[in-house]
Amino acid sequence: MNVAARRREAVPLVRFTSPRLCPVCRSDRSTALHRQRYALFDDSDLPAETTIVECDDCGMVHAASGAQADDYCRHYARHSKYDTAVQVSGSGETPADARRLDELVGFLAQNVPSLADHGAAVLDVGAGRGGLLAAFLGQGYDRIIGIDPSPGCVEAMRAHGIAAEVGELEQSTWPTDPGRFDLVVLSHVLEHVFDVADVFDRVAQRVAAGGSIYIEVPDAARYTVERFPPFYFFDPEHINHFDAPMLGRLASRHGWEVAAPWSRVLDLGAGQSYPAVGVVLRRSNDSASIAPSSAAAAIERYVEASTVAAASSVDASKLEALIAARTPVVVWGAGSHAQRLLAQTGLARCAIAFLIDSDPGKQGRSLDGHRVVAPEDGLAHADAHGASIVVAIAVGSELVVDMIHRARPGIPVVRL
Ligand SMILES: [Zn+2]
Repeated sequence: MNVAARRREAVPLVRFTSPRLCPVCRSDRSTALHRQRYALFDDSDLPAETTIVECDDCGMVHAASGAQADDYCRHYARHSKYDTAVQVSGSGETPADARRLDELVGFLAQNVPSLADHGAAVLDVGAGRGGLLAAFLGQGYDRIIGIDPSPGCVEAMRAHGIAAEVGELEQSTWPTDPGRFDLVVLSHVLEHVFDVADVFDRVAQRVAAGGSIYIEVPDAARYTVERFPPFYFFDPEHINHFDAPMLGRLASRHGWEVAAPWSRVLDLGAGQSYPAVGVVLRRSNDSASIAPSSAAAAIERYVEASTVAAASSVDASKLEALIAARTPVVVWGAGSHAQRLLAQTGLARCAIAFLIDSDPGKQGRSLDGHRVVAPEDGLAHADAHGASIVVAIAVGSELVVDMIHRARPGIPVVRL
């Protein structure tokens, strides 16, 4: 029984209405699971609040708000974070990452029949810096194309000898386009997509007869608060929450089926393991029965665990002390973790002087009215003004704390 059905039994259902239809089945009927707020960049196109809902008709868990497809398109066009940062889907720039991507190509070679021929054409949509395609190239596949909206990413791919184009799936042709592809890869793309059904159709049209699609997304069945900050997986850019059965249901609605499932854990470094789920899809006329998604139930457990973790955070008491003493505070981090903390904790009540972030794409902009500066400038100013630094980054915060202690031993640091 899905969450909506369980709720209907327990309480009279107050239906959630949102301008965003279900991205998988386009139903307008859903049940709210959680409300998530974010502090925003002053020039942001994203919503300050989303409601995580379960579709009453197909069970798809997604983030609903007043924002429309155009708002997300504008956001990605203006602020693609992957042209400067290492992306979770794999840049291949560390040995562990390169090894993992090699293994993925091995898995695909075994499960995509067309890849028996090294002349197979492969398209990676939203290829980032081309880590996966570099692994394909390394294993002897040379008819590969990466497309990405970020010019910086496309430049990085070309530097690896990969044919790459700046663009979106919506564009019909790219200069190096062979027309139809034996494999189309969507790795860590669909969780960002406003209209998943529409994108699936567009992808399917680009697959040659006998060809396959590989989809990989964060696994909503395995979101965890272990070694991640509470609510970490409700990233403002991640508006769809799939599990393996939901990927199967999505495929089935479009005349495809799962040929090979893969469940994976991505090493983000610093001991943090990111749960991901993948499927190789092939065309099919069978409507085989698919297990119901348990994503909504898993998300409900995750919200409970995040709520408990947030309430029991030791450093929250240190934050209250900073607020009481009116100590000048510099926040290190302007990413999604800081955006959640500024909206949902006492952090915004601190005497915040400015924010520090190492991402040049964030520097010079304002988050929640506070200027974002580069680390070197920020540390010097924080030291000169007797500020405390609150480290508000989700991945690798220990390394940042160590670095601050080494660079400026006198500055007090609180980690949130
Ligand atoms: Zn639906």
